[in-house]
Amino acid sequence: TTPTVLDNAPDVRQSYVFDKVLGKGNFGIVHMVYDKATGQPWACKSISKRKLVTQDDVEDVRREVQILLHLAGHPNVVQLKGVYEDKGYVHMVMELCEGGELFDRIADKGHFSERQAAEVVRTIVSVVHHCHTMNVIHRDLKPENFLLTSKKPNGTLKATDFGLSRFFKDGQVLNDIVGSPFYVAPEVLRRQYGKEADIWSCGVILYILLCGWPPFHGDTTQKIFKNIMSKPLDLKSPPWPKITDAAKDCVRKMLARDPRKRLTAEEVLKHPWMQEHGVATDIM
Ligand code: ADP
Ligand code: MG
Repeated sequence: TTPTVLDNAPDVRQSYVFDKVLGKGNFGIVHMVYDKATGQPWACKSISKRKLVTQDDVEDVRREVQILLHLAGHPNVVQLKGVYEDKGYVHMVMELCEGGELFDRIADKGHFSERQAAEVVRTIVSVVHHCHTMNVIHRDLKPENFLLTSKKPNGTLKATDFGLSRFFKDGQVLNDIVGSPFYVAPEVLRRQYGKEADIWSCGVILYILLCGWPPFHGDTTQKIFKNIMSKPLDLKSPPWPKITDAAKDCVRKMLARDPRKRLTAEEVLKHPWMQEHGVATDIM
């Protein structure tokens, strides 16, 4: 018999009709679905219970749901409409983000203007600030995990994947290495980290937005990690001479290797470079 993951979760097919596939992840397949009552489209992430082998896997799914509900209400966190379960799957019905990944916008554009980069980072760091205030550490901040609500230039960015997030207490030290190589903070590799690691990842995103490539790269994961630990930050090669000192100061302080010297989410939002660039509506 298949175990129950969630308590009292209703059957998704009573309320929704399934349509095309929107994307696939490690655990989930995401479909567009229509609410039978209103006709409104939503996204439904379905996690196969066959992939939930250990009790930890089951806990991971419960936690992802809990964290999405805990963070609900922030304008840049994807809204979870409801959770459902049947014999084979757990289903999470959430706000539809039709504009695709921030990752693809960066790939299309090469890099962003300072004003556009400031706007994207303001949004991402405001999500991180919300997480940290709510005692959640994200642990997997990267452009693939931010989706746009619409293909139009005025789409809103939404954080969608909290699969690696954890609840934490102030001062708690985490030690498992998770995340994606380019974005992982040096103290995560040293297995002694807290919420500051999220700001490092945001600093990597900002660096990429401004110049088009990651600050620490390499052909292998080992080389990337070695560079994260010790390679000096390059803010001299083109196009950096054309970028303002205020922007470089913000990048440098978000990518401080010592987490105690790194800006907090609140400090990033108050940084003069962020203040200089007002709220834009045509970020993409
Ligand atoms: P996993 O946790 O398995 O990696 P994700 O939550 O990242 O799953 O979703 C997998 C993919 O499905 C995403 O990369 C994205 O392309 C698509 N997707 C996820 N959520 C939505 C959504 N709310 N609206 C539209 N597409 C989505
Ligand atoms: Mg994902």
